[in-house]
Amino acid sequence: MEITQRLLEWYDVTARRFPWRSDDVDPYMVLVSETMLQQTQASRVAALLPPFMEAFPHVHALAKASNADIIRHWKGLGYNSRALRLRDAARAIVEHHGGIIPQSPELLRALPGVGPYTSAAIACFAFDVWTVVLDVNVRRVYSRWSQRQLTTVDVLPDKELTTYATALIPRDVPSKWHHAVMDLGATICTARDPKCSACPLSECCASAGTLQPASVARRAEPSFRGEPRRLWRGRVVDHLRSVGAGGVSEAALAVTILGDVHSADERQWLSELLAALETDGLVSRKGRRVSLAD
Ligand code: SF4
Repeated sequence: MEITQRLLEWYDVTARRFPWRSDDVDPYMVLVSETMLQQTQASRVAALLPPFMEAFPHVHALAKASNADIIRHWKGLGYNSRALRLRDAARAIVEHHGGIIPQSPELLRALPGVGPYTSAAIACFAFDVWTVVLDVNVRRVYSRWSQRQLTTVDVLPDKELTTYATALIPRDVPSKWHHAVMDLGATICTARDPKCSACPLSECCASAGTLQPASVARRAEPSFRGEPRRLWRGRVVDHLRSVGAGGVSEAALAVTILGDVHSADERQWLSELLAALETDGLVSRKGRRVSLAD
């Protein structure tokens, strides 16, 4: 039995159900969910997508959102800059496509903040367009199927993966296919602990039982007081979400974020963090007051 049949039969029985996977899914929901899924776990997105969709039920509503509006409704998802890029994409869809989400990966790719993965994913999942969708899970699974990999971190170059995928992806069910590969990568052919003995593809996988544990050296993130800078960015935005539109004074914010006792250097560090958040369109500083961006 070949890979295609085995995988799709397995998926028919085990598919993870998410709102963005229904047969008649609204393309707008796919745009929103794919943006959320870029850096947030699927289970968390499943919980936070419905209230976001209620606040911004269609692309026109999202296009009209102010920075502060959309940042407030992005609560719990992290990486707040994504929210602004998503809103900018909605504006471009209204302005250049009459509010209709385009179907072609090329047109989607031209939207603000939409990269190669997201454009392919929206085309495939919203419109069942045949295209190659490569995310981290899919890359890993294709690499292992196609060639014997020695360690859990080995992955083939995108060019080779695209050639392999092009020959493999069924023409009639590209969306279902990619959901199935992603589910296999998320539940069985995982990054660190592939469960080959329980895998429906083990008889046709070049790497079945061969993978030795390995880890990738992670790039050190900029940090402050031993915690990544992105966490501090999130804390500032979270606090500003919780106060009114008038914001807070920079001094009060420093006490909330840094604590009652902090040094002049730490205060300077916070000031530079606020400047970066302001440049990113997340925060606004007027005089000595700080608030979510207008
Ligand atoms: S047999 Fe192992 S390496 Fe191959 S797809 Fe299944 S879990 Fe992954």
